[in-house]
Amino acid sequence: MILFKRVQDLSLFLGSARAKGQSIGFVPTMGALHDGHLSLLEAARPYSDLVVCSIFVNPTQFNQASDLANYPRTESADIARLLRAECDILFLPSVEAIYPPDLEPMPTLDFGQLEHVMEGKFRPGHFAGVAQVVYRLLQIVAPHRLFMGQKDFQQVAIVREMLRQTGLPAALHMCPTVREPDGLAMSSRNQRLSPAGRTLAPEIFRTLRWAADQAPFLPLPEIAAAAMARLAALPDFRPEYVEFADGFTLQPVESYAETSYIALCAAVWVGEVRLIDNLEVKRPTL
Ligand code: AMP
Repeated sequence: MILFKRVQDLSLFLGSARAKGQSIGFVPTMGALHDGHLSLLEAARPYSDLVVCSIFVNPTQFNQASDLANYPRTESADIARLLRAECDILFLPSVEAIYPPDLEPMPTLDFGQLEHVMEGKFRPGHFAGVAQVVYRLLQIVAPHRLFMGQKDFQQVAIVREMLRQTGLPAALHMCPTVREPDGLAMSSRNQRLSPAGRTLAPEIFRTLRWAADQAPFLPLPEIAAAAMARLAALPDFRPEYVEFADGFTLQPVESYAETSYIALCAAVWVGEVRLIDNLEVKRPTL
């Protein structure tokens, strides 16, 4: 594995790889790597001569200073994991390298309603920060393919729309959520859960499955409200939303028959830790 910290060095290296016809697969992360992240590297491997992983805790996507300060940083363990996963290139830039003072502003993008629902509603400014950093990283890495997790379903929708509006050529792959044996979606934030919170956290996934099972039969807002109540009844659980959303537009869906692609998304505070999860309830037939 080759480690790059400077933008220019990485660009030069990847430019010459591209010129030789090598394909580049890219997995952007914020570190504290777990098997969910590694599954993205595995998904990238068959498509890519070079698999590039970045670790960058992007300050512009945190809407709470405490969340940024508490975000786990485990650099040497991350490097060991990437070595075992046979990652080809690790990009580990500083904040100054990603956002130098003379950086050209990114094009103005309009995500419309995509950024005003769910995560966008509860974390104002979050997706502007995500779009900014992914755009910057894509300019530097210029991958052929970009691998992101379904775990962050709305993030994938935002990046898909960003690629469409900017015309950046990377093909976007959404990879399935990797879970702990008890169903809890893997997340860097899980390590901040208290023992009691960790024991109960799989209830989020169980509740999503319970709600998804009812979706063909009952009005969706009714099921979502029952799921909210079920989660709110658990000690130290504060659900922010449980929502059936159109898988493409992310707008709320009222009935199972209304559209061909439905995702059920949730955000829940478990003690001091905010967790998100989702399920695809109905998938479009291609
Ligand atoms: P993060 O480091 O949280 O920014 O995540 C980096 C990438 O890993 C994003 O594309 C996430 O959606 C993805 N990811 C995070 N958790 C999981 C998981 N449990 N399963 C699959 N992908 C994940």
